[in-house]
Amino acid sequence: MAEFSIIDTYFNRQNINSVDLGVGDDSALLTPPPQQQLVICADTLVAGRHFPLDTNPHAIGWKSVAVNLSDIAAMGAKPHSILLALSLPQIDHDWLKGFSQGLYDCCDQFGVSLIGGDTTQSPHLTISVTALGWVKSGQAVPRSGAQIGDYICVSGQVGDAAFGLNHLGHRLQRRLDYPTPRCLLGQQLKGLANSMIDVSDGLAQDLGHILAASHVGAEIELDQLPIDPDVKQLQQEMQWQYALAGGDDYELCFTISPQNYKKLLQLKLDVNISKIGQITPNLGIRYNNHGVDQVIKFKGYQHFA
Ligand code: ADP
Ligand code: MG
Repeated sequence: MAEFSIIDTYFNRQNINSVDLGVGDDSALLTPPPQQQLVICADTLVAGRHFPLDTNPHAIGWKSVAVNLSDIAAMGAKPHSILLALSLPQIDHDWLKGFSQGLYDCCDQFGVSLIGGDTTQSPHLTISVTALGWVKSGQAVPRSGAQIGDYICVSGQVGDAAFGLNHLGHRLQRRLDYPTPRCLLGQQLKGLANSMIDVSDGLAQDLGHILAASHVGAEIELDQLPIDPDVKQLQQEMQWQYALAGGDDYELCFTISPQNYKKLLQLKLDVNISKIGQITPNLGIRYNNHGVDQVIKFKGYQHFA
């Protein structure tokens, strides 16, 4: 009984887009738009592992949706809906109220409906969200499409969230707690970018996935990395560490031909784009700072965990 009253009280709001059947039946029903492919992904957050137990529940709700919409965006797709699988150690109404509000706030901002899920009791608080989106058939932007000569670009700023984690209470903690999935940019890059990924584990590692999938390498200009002015107060090695190895930014990293880059700059974008390097035939990533070769020894993602 408790399970149904939780669903009805917290997770059964009206859908905000086309859903044939949402929360309340054995499955949800959607009608695929003509000539579109279904884009689908899932991400799980475990309390004590992906966030501290005392994290603001509103932020947890927001982030559990945002990280999935970021994966949909990284394909060049339009997000449509989510499913929520929730495992709760106990029924805490204050927590559920904050969590569901944060979840719906993120859904509302990006025009996404919660269309179903599962609610269970378990010793560990675990939140698993599945996101669904649509993309015109054959137009999804894969990791594997980078071409030699492509510009490498990244949206927003990198390193903010890792800096926020190490400086709790600082303005940049908001970038850790409330990441902004780049949904509009992702869709604008469909048909323009050759490859794309969202930056969740640090720019160097995530760009590395594009390079491996595309069998190419990269030259990165360290002086072009979009780094927050407060992070820029740190010594240079530390700045690069945050920008390249810090996690949880949820920006988009993409590669694009010089011609399409010009077209991109003519669009009305809702986030800044930085051109940080170029795709090369020699594998791996080379770094330079103001044109001078630079070797970077990463302390690794763990440093910030
Ligand atoms: P079943 O037993 O048939 O799997 P459930 O009793 O688990 O169905 O769920 C009832 C309805 O509530 C279903 O439509 C399911 O998708 C939805 N639901 C369950 N938990 C959640 C949740 N946490 N968020 C949103 N919808 C949920
Ligand atoms: Mg059933």
